[in-house]
Parts: sequence; structure tokens; C-alpha cells
Amino acid sequence: MTETTHIVLVGAGHAHLHVAANATQLIDAGARVTLLSPGNFWYSGMASGMLGGEYSGNDDSLEPATLIEHAGGRFIADRVVAIDREQRLLHLAKGAPLSYDLLSLNLGSRVDVPSISGIEDAKGIWPAKPIEGLLRLRELLESALADPAPLPRLAVIGGGPTGAELAANLLALSERYGRKFDISLISASKRLLEHAPRSASVWLARRLRRRGLRIEMSASAVSYDNGQLTLDDGMQLPADHLIMATGLVAPLLIGELDLEHHPHHGLAITSALHTLYDDRIFAVGDCAWLKDSPYPKLGIFGVRQAPFLLHNLVAHLRNTPFEAFQPQHRYLSILNLGDGRGMALWGRFWWAGRLAMKAKRRLDHDFMQQYRA
Ligand SMILES: Cc1cc2nc3c(=O)[nH]c(=O)nc-3n(C[C@H](O)[C@H](O)[C@H](O)COP(=O)(O)OP(=O)(O)OC[C@H]3O[C@@H](n4cnc5c(N)ncnc54)[C@H](O)[C@@H]3O)c2cc1C
Repeated sequence: MTETTHIVLVGAGHAHLHVAANATQLIDAGARVTLLSPGNFWYSGMASGMLGGEYSGNDDSLEPATLIEHAGGRFIADRVVAIDREQRLLHLAKGAPLSYDLLSLNLGSRVDVPSISGIEDAKGIWPAKPIEGLLRLRELLESALADPAPLPRLAVIGGGPTGAELAANLLALSERYGRKFDISLISASKRLLEHAPRSASVWLARRLRRRGLRIEMSASAVSYDNGQLTLDDGMQLPADHLIMATGLVAPLLIGELDLEHHPHHGLAITSALHTLYDDRIFAVGDCAWLKDSPYPKLGIFGVRQAPFLLHNLVAHLRNTPFEAFQPQHRYLSILNLGDGRGMALWGRFWWAGRLAMKAKRRLDHDFMQQYRA
């Protein structure tokens, strides 16, 4: 590799925050480093707390420009719209094409929005990602809460951890104003958090119902018209806003690279984190698919991959061995229930209460703080 090796990091995702903060290691190995992303990093760990009014938009986001520039790299605020692998060129939404020698993709994911007839042209459809959309939703709901007029009715589609957390924090937002949103949660699965222990699902459903959430399980939304959501059994629910928490899938861009990929799982990568047939292109986080050992679309996996990505980019520059990333099978996740309580899940074990929320606040704060400094 020559001195001019240009490494382009596309997407200010979890792993790229770490690489950007440590870009001096790449520069010392003979590279110039560019981080390219349309805007701020938004931290999903605090997203539902932001929706519920506990955190501000500033608490939940970071400016990646400061991070990379401080480490001697460059930031470009733009979006990649196409990648020409032959010419090693990135086509951007606004700026001139950008050439690369080594490319790393940390593009995140998008919500797998189900086909519900009528939602294409409807207003008030809110996918859980991008996270900044949840801030706009909160602002809109807060103006309604401050107005004595009847409140908008809400429906959360999806009964996994994200749907449950968002519903709990929408309740919390209205509770802050001494009012109560009419919220329905609709899920095709038989129970909330279907991958968690059954006792955890039962506890959570009981607690959320007690706070006023209507929960419709084993139900799918089929059509939406004039503020009415119709379920597959014919039931109708009033909803002025639909919040989509129906799972995450890979971004569309990865399908245009002419590299092995799965439209839902992402770009196929090896344990060295580069793509299967082009070792000049690395991919991490939700947009990547570790075929031999797939991992769920969760930010913590990007965090775990980060030091491996940094090491392997340096190894590529110095022609030294790569390190293999192996995702862990068990991991701690803590849901923010919006009422000062958290629900911690670790394999077959779970516990809920204020201590769990305290631990979550500490972990989230420490994660963000390391990049703010
Ligand atoms: C409401 C909610 C709560 C969640 N809570 C948790 C949680 O508590 N814990 C957890 O582990 N996971 C959680 N998740 C899942 C988590 O959001 C994702 O797994 C995580 O964000 C993926 O991180 P990433 O590093 O792959 O990408 P992201 O952090 O999503 O970053 C992707 C970046 O790429 C940029 N980008 C995208 N396309 C382009 C392009 N074409 N050109 C340039 N840049 C581009 C984006 O702007 C963004 O900066 C939650 C998800 C949601 C929706």
C-alpha cells in the first residue's frame, strides 16, 4: 500500500464511531481517512427514552464530524447513492463522486414495513428508524399534549422489544403531561417479546395493560383508512398515527454492489469483516451478514465489531494478519419501560425494576460519553 491509500468509512454507525475516534492508527499506517454520513449518529439505546421525554435530541445524538476531524480525518456530510466497484468510486446524493482504495460500510438498517393497504399515501406513518424520526413524532405529540383538544390515537405495530419499549414510552410521554394517550399495540406473535422467557412476556403485558395499553396479540393489521386500522379478524382500532416496529432489514444499497448478499440479512462478510469476494470492502453492523454465524440486528454487535474492524483495516494497510470476529450468543439487553423501571434480559434470565433502569442509564451514558470527550 502506498501513502495515498484512501479509506472511506460510509455511515456514522456504532463501529465507525470507534474507527473514526481512532483514525490516527490508520493515518500512522499510511492512509487518509474520510467519514461520510448524511448527519449525526443517533443512538438507538436511548431512542425510546427520547420519545418518552426523558432525553433530548442532543442527549441522543453525536456529531461525527468533530470525532473524525479531531483524529486527523475528514468528514463529508452526504449520502452514497451508488457504488462503482470497478472504478472504486462512490456516487453521492449532493457532491462529486469520491474515489476510495478501501471502503467500510456501516449503513445500519431500515424497518421492514409490512404491506398494509392504505398506508402508502397515508400521513402519520412512523417507522421506528431512522431514530431522528422519533424526535419529530415526540415534538408533534407534545404540541397535542399541550393543547386541551382531544389527543391523537396511536397504534404501535410490532410486539418485539422495540414495539414494547416504544409503546411504554409513548404512555410515559402522555403521563408527563398528566394525560393518557389511547394506544394499541398489535402483534402477529402470540406473546410480547416472543424470544424472551414466557414469564417476562406475561409480566410485561400485565404491567403495560395496567398502565392503559391495549394489546392485541396474534393479530395483523391489513388495512388503514381514515384513521381506522383494520386487523385480519375484522376488528377496527382508531389510530391517527401508526408507529412501525416490525423488525429491521438491510438497506437497499447493499443489493446494488453485485456482491453476495441477502435482501433482509445484509452484505455477506467473512469473520475478518470484509465482503466475501472483495476484500477492499468491509461491512459491519446491521448492513452486514456474517453468513457462518449470523447475529441479530442490534447495536451491541456493531460495538463489539468495532475493535476488529479497526485492527483489520490497519492489517490491510500493513499486510499483517486479520483478526476473526465471533459474535457472542448471549448478551444483556435492558428495555426502558418509561416509568423509571427497566426490564433486563440475559438468556433465560430476566429481572425488572428501578435497578435495571439505573444500570441501563449508566451503560448508555458511558457509551455516549466516550465519544463526546
Ligand atoms: C427504537 C429502537 C430501539 C433500539 N434499541 C436498541 C438497544 O437498546 N440496543 C441495541 O443493541 N439495539 C437497539 N436497536 C437496534 C439498533 O438500532 C440497530 O441495531 C443499530 O442502530 C445498528 O447500528 P449500526 O451501527 O449498524 O448502524 P446505525 O447506528 O443505524 O448507523 C448507520 C449510519 O449509516 C448512515 N447511512 C445510511 N445509509 C447511508 C448512505 N447511503 N450513505 C451514507 N451514510 C448512510 C446513517 O445515516 C447512520 O449514520 C434499536 C432499534 C430501534 C429502532
